[in-house]
Amino acid sequence: MRTSSSYGRLIVVAGPSGAGKTTLARHLVETFADARFSVSTTTRPPRGDERQGRDYDFVDEEEFRSRMDRGFFLEWAEVHGSLYGTDRQWVRQTTSSGSSVVLDIDVQGAMQVRERWPGAVLVFVLPPSAAELRARLTGRGTDDSSTVERRMEAAAREVRWLGAFDYFVLNGARAEALQRMEDIYTSTSCGLAWSPYPAQALEYHGCTDGLDHWGGRKVVVTAGPTREPLDDVRFLSNRASGLMGCMLASAFRDAGASVTLVAGPMRAEPPAGVDLVEVETALQMGRALREHVRGAHLLAMAAAVSDFRPASRAKGKMDRRETAPQLELEPNPDLLAELDAGCPVLAFALEMAGGREERALAKMRRKGAFAVFLNRGDLEGQGMESGANAGVLLGEDGRRLEIPPGSKRYVAEALAACLGRWLGERGDG
Ligand code: 5GP
Repeated sequence: MRTSSSYGRLIVVAGPSGAGKTTLARHLVETFADARFSVSTTTRPPRGDERQGRDYDFVDEEEFRSRMDRGFFLEWAEVHGSLYGTDRQWVRQTTSSGSSVVLDIDVQGAMQVRERWPGAVLVFVLPPSAAELRARLTGRGTDDSSTVERRMEAAAREVRWLGAFDYFVLNGARAEALQRMEDIYTSTSCGLAWSPYPAQALEYHGCTDGLDHWGGRKVVVTAGPTREPLDDVRFLSNRASGLMGCMLASAFRDAGASVTLVAGPMRAEPPAGVDLVEVETALQMGRALREHVRGAHLLAMAAAVSDFRPASRAKGKMDRRETAPQLELEPNPDLLAELDAGCPVLAFALEMAGGREERALAKMRRKGAFAVFLNRGDLEGQGMESGANAGVLLGEDGRRLEIPPGSKRYVAEALAACLGRWLGERGDG
């Protein structure tokens, strides 16, 4: 049976300096027992009574950059001449444990979170007016007039991003602003991005019960593109964001499966509560699958694996030359053909032109898959780089299910429900 999600949300409070976001962000943590404040890493020196570990993790620039190179940050930005970043691992662990995380960050950072963590809730804190913002910045007494001017200019740039946020809070009258923050926090608990898609909505596909199939089963999902290196800094890749695979992993997780996500370098942040195996190349993905697919009840191949790779990899960085080097490519192996998965496989086909279904079915047979999800690559607003998708699920026995355009989360839930039903009916495992 599906239970409501026990994963925390990620709430991002952003806006111009001086808008009062820290007070509003801290208010959530003081008001809601399940909310935790994310302590950022920064290169700026402590001010006033700020304490290491409570207000910031204060580090020098060398340490900050070394963390950056290790992929320590979910997002990072240079703000007013200092570097600031959010600890990715801590956010993952905290949301996995069921607590919600509140970030108090700048607007550039919020935009990075939007891309990497599709379910994040973005709240923009808007000062009541430019004059009031100037008065607050001046009144703090910490900045000289040229600094205040720079902050005012930055504010004008940042406010233009308001449309990319989910909510705004006009931070004028304090009590109202605090109440509004509480309302936002509470209302997000009804959000589709953090809870299993309601089974009732899937009734319209006639396959709600299919979700029950996954309780206690093991599912392996692949996601993202692969990167095929030319040298130590350049690679061949494609536009896959990894979002479809992440949403599938979430859907199977919420249906009660234990999920392993084998992911190439994705822009989407992997969902909490799944085992993550990170790879870079197609060959590494093949090895990871051989290692993890044993005992699985389904392998869903949502990754966009490169068909080709450079025939050789140069050391360091290839020099710039008068004439561009010729790229010699060689085919990557067909991961499924090599794998012998030992469980039903769902293939994905992205087909742009006419004759799509025939080509998708041919791909399904070639790969020994029991079903293929045919995505339309040519519909505006859908497919690889977007949050939406649509398509048709084709089964080896001739069954088909049209999935109308919807968010990738919705498409993933519909796929999980329908596959569960099909496999349940054929008495699978
Ligand atoms: P302050 O130095 O006044 O504490 O913060 C300066 C600005 O940096 C504020 O807008 C604050 O929200 C932002 N900031 C603090 N931590 C982070 C972080 O981890 N990432 C990003 N992108 N901005 C941050």
